[in-house]
Amino acid sequence: MTETLGTPPSFTPPTRFAVPGRIAVDDQAASEWQTATITGIRRETPRVATFRLSVPAWPGHLPGQHLMVRLRAHDGYVAQRHYSIASAPDGTGHIELTLDHVDGGEVSGWFHTVAEPGDTVEVRGPVSGFFAWPGDRPALLLGAGSGVVPLMSMVRHHRARGSRVPLRLLVSARSPEELVYASEYGSETTAVFTRRAPAGVPVGRMSAAHVAPHLAERPPGGWEAYVCGSNGFAEHASRLLVAAGQPVDRIRIERFG
Ligand SMILES: Cc1cc2nc3c(=O)[nH]c(=O)nc-3n(C[C@H](O)[C@H](O)[C@H](O)COP(=O)(O)OP(=O)(O)OC[C@H]3O[C@@H](n4cnc5c(N)ncnc54)[C@H](O)[C@@H]3O)c2cc1C
Repeated sequence: MTETLGTPPSFTPPTRFAVPGRIAVDDQAASEWQTATITGIRRETPRVATFRLSVPAWPGHLPGQHLMVRLRAHDGYVAQRHYSIASAPDGTGHIELTLDHVDGGEVSGWFHTVAEPGDTVEVRGPVSGFFAWPGDRPALLLGAGSGVVPLMSMVRHHRARGSRVPLRLLVSARSPEELVYASEYGSETTAVFTRRAPAGVPVGRMSAAHVAPHLAERPPGGWEAYVCGSNGFAEHASRLLVAAGQPVDRIRIERFG
């Protein structure tokens, strides 16, 4: 059974829903830079923080989409990077980004060491419909590190709508302290720890033992799988999915590396 989800009055989708492959992007919205004001900063882990932005003319997004951020120095130097949107679409004119502090990183370094509420950046988006989840099909989500960011937008969207569409999240982190959004996970989530785990939880990489039981659930219409993380994780996780029987053309991959 595929549940058809209504659209809450506060949310105007930027694109048409229920397109099985690539979801169309509003080219005009994706090409226009807008000023975004940082309105809040929330620490998630020692190296990861969430930045809440006010973007009054934000056109809306689908869970899984990303945007471009542009920083300008006084001397005219410009740096721009892709960032996934962490928040669910909510029509409030605010969005949230969650950034890992990359060693020596220009843009993530600025956000983590300089940015304060009231500072402005430029944003353009949402960009790319390939990794978007419209909310209408069973979703099996596999993420590692900050690769969980676009997947969390999907989980939040699922919860906000009280959706009964099957959704499962497998998330990998080095240790409990490095698990992004740790306090937000519910029964949809299985966390895997690669270096140090809580008592009673095995340490190790994501494996067939994590993926196969979900594939065996066989939800109506099958899973759409979304994989996000480093290049290494994306390769590893997509191999696990294929080995467990997930069709290759129903695996969507976003690489942050
Ligand atoms: C579609 C997409 C979505 C993304 N979403 C997110 C997100 O939600 N959160 C997030 O934290 N990042 C995300 N990224 C990564 C982000 O775009 C930047 O690459 C990252 O923040 C580093 O930029 P920087 O300017 O800080 O580092 P740079 O100045 O570009 O790089 C500094 C050094 O770090 C290395 N490096 C660059 N990027 C990474 C990386 N991701 N991991 C490890 N080393 C790196 C470089 O090789 C270089 O040596 C996303 C990338 C893509 C393509």
